[in-house]
Amino acid sequence: MNNKKLNLDFSNTEIAFKSKSDSELRMSNFLFKAIGINWLVKIGTPLVETAFSLHLPIKTLIKKTVYQQFVGGESITDCEKAIDNLYKYNIGTILDYSVEGKEAEADFDFTTQETIETIHKAKGNSKIPFSVFKVTGVARFELLSKVNDNLTLTTEEQTEFEKVKARIEKICSTAFENHVRIFIDAEESWIQNTIDALATKMMEKFNKTEAIVFNTIQLYRHDRLEFLKNSLVAANQNNYFYGVKLVRGAYMEKEAKRALEMNYTNPIQNSKENSDADYNNALSFCIENINKISFCAGTHNENSSKLLAQLMLDNNIANNDKRIYFSQLYGMSDNLSYNLANAGYNVAKYLPYGPVRAVLPYLFRRAAENTSVKGQTGRELNLILTERKRRATATK
Ligand SMILES: Cc1cc2nc3c(=O)[nH]c(=O)nc-3n(C[C@H](O)[C@H](O)[C@H](O)COP(=O)(O)OP(=O)(O)OC[C@H]3O[C@@H](n4cnc5c(N)ncnc54)[C@H](O)[C@@H]3O)c2cc1C
Repeated sequence: MNNKKLNLDFSNTEIAFKSKSDSELRMSNFLFKAIGINWLVKIGTPLVETAFSLHLPIKTLIKKTVYQQFVGGESITDCEKAIDNLYKYNIGTILDYSVEGKEAEADFDFTTQETIETIHKAKGNSKIPFSVFKVTGVARFELLSKVNDNLTLTTEEQTEFEKVKARIEKICSTAFENHVRIFIDAEESWIQNTIDALATKMMEKFNKTEAIVFNTIQLYRHDRLEFLKNSLVAANQNNYFYGVKLVRGAYMEKEAKRALEMNYTNPIQNSKENSDADYNNALSFCIENINKISFCAGTHNENSSKLLAQLMLDNNIANNDKRIYFSQLYGMSDNLSYNLANAGYNVAKYLPYGPVRAVLPYLFRRAAENTSVKGQTGRELNLILTERKRRATATK
């Protein structure tokens, strides 16, 4: 198609960094330089863990550096500043309670309650268009894996899984009652069937008149484009609206390692190009079925973001159509977020928050992603440098 001319420029750094002061930009420059250094990230991760175990006072340092760039704060209240700053530029916030790796029932209940707090915060609040949670935040990983493999659960495990279902139902019903859309994040493939089944149940229940619950599909898996298509068939058959967040996927190395160790076919596509192709085909599929699908493109990829904007233009879909969102992570790809929002598209950023130590796995993942994924750090750094140069010349 591509017959209408799209007017969208992701290289406009003035718009991209409008919200950042010179000193904030200097800090971003320093951070992206640091996490671009492979060995530094490799030794930095265990060093930070050790420093915490030895009770060294590194919390303040982390809060003044990486937290400033990637995290909203330790609590919802701490996030107010970032929420307001984003909203000044028509960018919404998705409050993401990023505490990971917990295994106790009390922690799962706490995360459930915290997620419910984010829903209450989002109620009727145009600054916060979605809520989000991870199923592993409210359930034990091994239990999800056992359910995934259809293994027989012990009586205790059955009770435990009933509690998991009740937590998820509580979160989704609160979202439904308060008209707040909610994403369920995608995770490792060996628990994803369980997550998909839980998400589908919630969609059947709460998406009858509009998409409230959104599942997530990772297009770095070679079976997921088909899964997307089948999911729509199921939604049509059972009369509910389909909500989906499309991502490429964050666990590539882990997936490959496990598949190799356990001798099964790696579920990940055999090339980046194939992930890109399926991602872009998924965008086209959602646009073709926009009457039944609401979706969010969770991506930092410029081509995919441009493609979606082009598809919207070609299909006469308004930039601010409420069924379509673009989303990036806080502190990353501001050139996409701010330029898209400036052009009138719906944009929301994931804003992680939580106690410093508990948010570390999230931060380590971001650091690893920025060193291992070809291009991302280079991209961020180049944009920051371009803007610093632009400012320096503009003030001359
Ligand atoms: C708002 C938002 C929400 C997210 N939610 C989730 C979530 O719920 N679950 C989740 O898993 N991730 C999630 N992510 C992370 C996401 O999956 C990606 O890891 C990240 O966004 C990088 O991909 P990209 O689309 O931005 O683009 P790019 O930088 O263009 O692509 C990088 C990605 O391509 C894929 N890739 C890279 N090399 C290869 C290769 N050799 N072969 C095959 N594939 C390859 C990988 O997925 C890699 O992460 C989210 C991201 C955002 C922005």
